[in-house]
Amino acid sequence: MKKLGRFSIGVGDRFGHQGEAQLAALELTEKAGVVVVPVWNKSNREHTLIGTEPAQTRQAADAAVAARNWKHQYFLDADHVGLKTVDRFIDACDFFTLDVADDIGQPAEAADIDAFAARWKHLVGTLTIPGLSEAFTITEATLRQVAGTYLRAAKEAGKIYRHIAEKKNPETFVVEVSMDETMQPQTPLEMFLILAALSEEKIPVQTVAPKFSGKFLKGIDYVGSVERFAAEFEADVRVVAHAAKLFGLPETLKLSVHSGSDKFSLYPVMRSVLQKTGAGVHLKTAGTTWLEELIGLAAAGGDGLAMAKKVYADAIARMDELTKPYATVVEIDKTKLPTPAEVSAWTSDQYAHALRHVQSNPAYNLHFRQVLHVAFKLAGEMGISYTDMLKKYRSVVGKNVTENLYERHLKPLFVGA
Ligand SMILES: [Zn+2]
Repeated sequence: MKKLGRFSIGVGDRFGHQGEAQLAALELTEKAGVVVVPVWNKSNREHTLIGTEPAQTRQAADAAVAARNWKHQYFLDADHVGLKTVDRFIDACDFFTLDVADDIGQPAEAADIDAFAARWKHLVGTLTIPGLSEAFTITEATLRQVAGTYLRAAKEAGKIYRHIAEKKNPETFVVEVSMDETMQPQTPLEMFLILAALSEEKIPVQTVAPKFSGKFLKGIDYVGSVERFAAEFEADVRVVAHAAKLFGLPETLKLSVHSGSDKFSLYPVMRSVLQKTGAGVHLKTAGTTWLEELIGLAAAGGDGLAMAKKVYADAIARMDELTKPYATVVEIDKTKLPTPAEVSAWTSDQYAHALRHVQSNPAYNLHFRQVLHVAFKLAGEMGISYTDMLKKYRSVVGKNVTENLYERHLKPLFVGA
């Protein structure tokens, strides 16, 4: 099994031009004393929306690593794949996020539930997790109920894992199991028993992505109780450590937080739990690098700013189409959006300030930001006229990409403010 380092960050690079700028942020982190492993993630949905293939992501990542002479690990994540979508990723990727959210709540076979309850009967009673003051009570009914909700998902993860392992040497890739794209959050106790079920499937799972309580909307801060998240995150971290030992899962097993990017209010509490427990984490961010590209183009002025404005005008014209695939993870108040006519009169700074995620800036507009977040398809349609612009303004775009990733993500979470 290829072991994943203690700290890792999932970064998106939709158009494959910012790998070097992203690595520059990881170099700053390393200089500050912490090695964080980059994992370039791109889902099937993203590839399909802009017409790219995983092999292109591989090329871009390898080229960036060579150009910056990055000496540590790096991975390419087939993000949110299932049996139907995984094949196109198998050659190019070495990290697979097995998405089994759709199987959650699908009734398991009665015989499978019986077998699960029998297999884990010795867990019935009081479960104390090292480091957690509160103990859990497990009854036979708990085992049956969790199996009823999650066993099919665990078995599906087993199927996807074995499908990949038939085609690719299991020693060469990392496995994540994700359950975040579902309605109900998983409790720490459920997580514990889900890990038991994954161990039955003999999946060498190194990262597990639960759904946490609260809202993880794309590209904007967390919506919910930070205190509650902190307690839940700590309980999950401790459950994962205990379950790894008890169920013989890889010692590198850790949580993966599918953040949807920019959960700034959570970083300090996550950091304190990681420090307290010595645990690792995988922070998966979404494609906000694309927003830094727009900020960079806007800041460049001239044709760069004009293109950034055109993307916004087109996004407003096609908003329903663009938001549809992201219906559950964006919340846009149309009344708070500037009109394309207003934006067309903006300066570079006005555009950048409205878009850049600095909450203390009164010009920051989270609705404007969310519209542009889902508008990457439009840049995909522009094809080389967009990517040529990225090349033309490479340094100003790269500066924004690096600064955003380091100052607003890596530093607060891994280095400390
Ligand atoms: Zn996810």
